Amino acid sequence: MEDSTLMIETLFQHASLGIIIANRAGQITRINPYAEKLFGYEAAELINQDIETLLPMELRKKHVGLRVGYNNDPIPREMGKSLDLLALKKDGSTFSVEISLSSYHIAKELFIVSFINDVTQRKKGREELENKVQERTRELSQALEELNHTNDNLEAEIRQRKDAEEKMRQTLEREKELNELKSRFVSMASHEFRTPLAGILTSASLIGRYHLPEQEEKKLKQVKNIKKSVHNLTTILNDFLSLDKLNQGKIQARLSRFELKDLIQEVLEDMRGISEQSHSLVYQPQHQELALYQYTEMLRNILMNLLSNGMKYSENGTEIKVFSKVEQANVKIAVQDQGLGIPEEDKKHMFERFFRAKNVTAIQGTGLGLNIVKRYLDFMQGSITFTSQLNQGSTFTITFPQDVQS
Ligand code: ADP
Repeated sequence: MEDSTLMIETLFQHASLGIIIANRAGQITRINPYAEKLFGYEAAELINQDIETLLPMELRKKHVGLRVGYNNDPIPREMGKSLDLLALKKDGSTFSVEISLSSYHIAKELFIVSFINDVTQRKKGREELENKVQERTRELSQALEELNHTNDNLEAEIRQRKDAEEKMRQTLEREKELNELKSRFVSMASHEFRTPLAGILTSASLIGRYHLPEQEEKKLKQVKNIKKSVHNLTTILNDFLSLDKLNQGKIQARLSRFELKDLIQEVLEDMRGISEQSHSLVYQPQHQELALYQYTEMLRNILMNLLSNGMKYSENGTEIKVFSKVEQANVKIAVQDQGLGIPEEDKKHMFERFFRAKNVTAIQGTGLGLNIVKRYLDFMQGSITFTSQLNQGSTFTITFPQDVQS
């Protein structure tokens, strides 16, 4: 053997690279020991076999075409660059390979040389690296998420603190308002209490002087005056107590089921007792029996308030009418008087605390009643409106759901 041939043969035998030589028809003519080991064959088993024997089944047909193409232009190059090439072992398993192709002629016969490199390990390494990268990316995004979470928690904490501050501010504000209210009430009450107290005193001393049987009627009249004054005082006190409770959120509101007509009749009866029949109170329901689920005591207070205003601001002997009807599960109750009415420019202030119209200064009152009524109605998910004409009379109408949503 010539030196160079020997050298090539040595390389062929010892290269740690698979070398397979095939003829133009794709039949294997030689295979080096490394390739034998790679594919798990003895050389003799492969000689004269199609090179496709070493390819997975699904690639064989395509490979024949590619091989013929290469025969026509057999320049050295890598096979399927940037593709993941797979080769088939004798035992049926596959492995990843990189293949370089080359060719030579002997006596005009074309031979194709394939240099085959097992890249399973390298690929595995790359996959591991990719996995690692993926894992790190996952860890990173998890860390980011946690960071976001921490941020959210922090924001929630700040929000909570702000809420607490806001609540505190509101409480202080309420307290301040309550204090103002109380001092205003004290000055108002001391003024408003004076008249009924003076009235009571006068009546009491007059009664003390009536000894004769024929003075019995005069006596009764004074007793009536006392009752009226006491009622005035009670109203003022009740107004204030309700307002105080409302302001402090201490209002005891109990829901119950009741019959509307019965309740209105009851209130009218009470008012007749208090007013000593000064007015005729007439009830005209425009519905059959009507069961409500509402805050009974609030409704009772509202009606008493509206009725006592009606009586207070209209002449004795006049009529006060109460109407009730239902419209789409809403109850409407109207209290109508034929009294003083409300001046146009005062109408917009009617539900403000302590507001009293300029035509009622001679009549006792606190200016709290309607404000309380409105706030009770808020509880009942209802509302109040009124129409009024000076010296003709006023009608206050309340509307609220038949069944309150608790
Ligand atoms: P008060 O009657 O104690 O003054 P309210 O809050 O009940 O307080 O009423 C506020 C004001 O509304 C009254 O002072 C009066 O000017 C006016 N008002 C309320 N009801 C009537 C009514 N039926 N007729 C005329 N004016 C009324």
